[in-house]
Amino acid sequence: MLEDLKANNRRWAERKISADPGFFKRLEGQQAPEYLWIGCSDSRVPANEIVDLDPGELFVHRNVANLAPPQDANYLSVLQFAVDVLKVKHILVVGHYGCGGVAAAVDGKRRGLVDHWLHPIREVHQEHRHELEGIGDDQKRWDRLVELNVIRQVRNVASDVFVQDAWARGQTLCVHGWVYSIANGLVTDLNVAVSGLEDLERLG
Ligand code: ZN
Repeated sequence: MLEDLKANNRRWAERKISADPGFFKRLEGQQAPEYLWIGCSDSRVPANEIVDLDPGELFVHRNVANLAPPQDANYLSVLQFAVDVLKVKHILVVGHYGCGGVAAAVDGKRRGLVDHWLHPIREVHQEHRHELEGIGDDQKRWDRLVELNVIRQVRNVASDVFVQDAWARGQTLCVHGWVYSIANGLVTDLNVAVSGLEDLERLG
């Protein structure tokens, strides 16, 4: 099995070079991506492929249920590097319909460590329980919780001091909330973009 992967890798590198002989040489010098992607670890949501970007064009952070927890050193390190060093112009928080992590947060079953990781989603669920209880269809209620989770993570990112300091410096930086559909491969923009403190207040 792993031999297949190694053979795939060699073919992929050859394809890249035959299409563009200087491809890897250019990337060796530096990376200058304009986008930070914060997405779910789900294997069906491959960041670069979805937005058809090459290596070097997308800085990526993925975890279970695309969370941006303000105490998570891994996420914060990625965020600071992306904002302060790479100076990305857009941060994309990308959830996906059918997210098992979002479902697991609220199904009442105990799984261990991941229950703690998913705690922020239970908080979102609790805060919006009236809206969610009003949705009769299970699938639609799950979809809505996926969206509400993305909106919450957009707020977390936009509230972070690294992002706020960038705005105070006059740096151009916009945080977006998207949801990807595994069923048709399309992204929906939730139209909750935050590009400064005024937008953040509107998001509530
Ligand atoms: Zn997921």
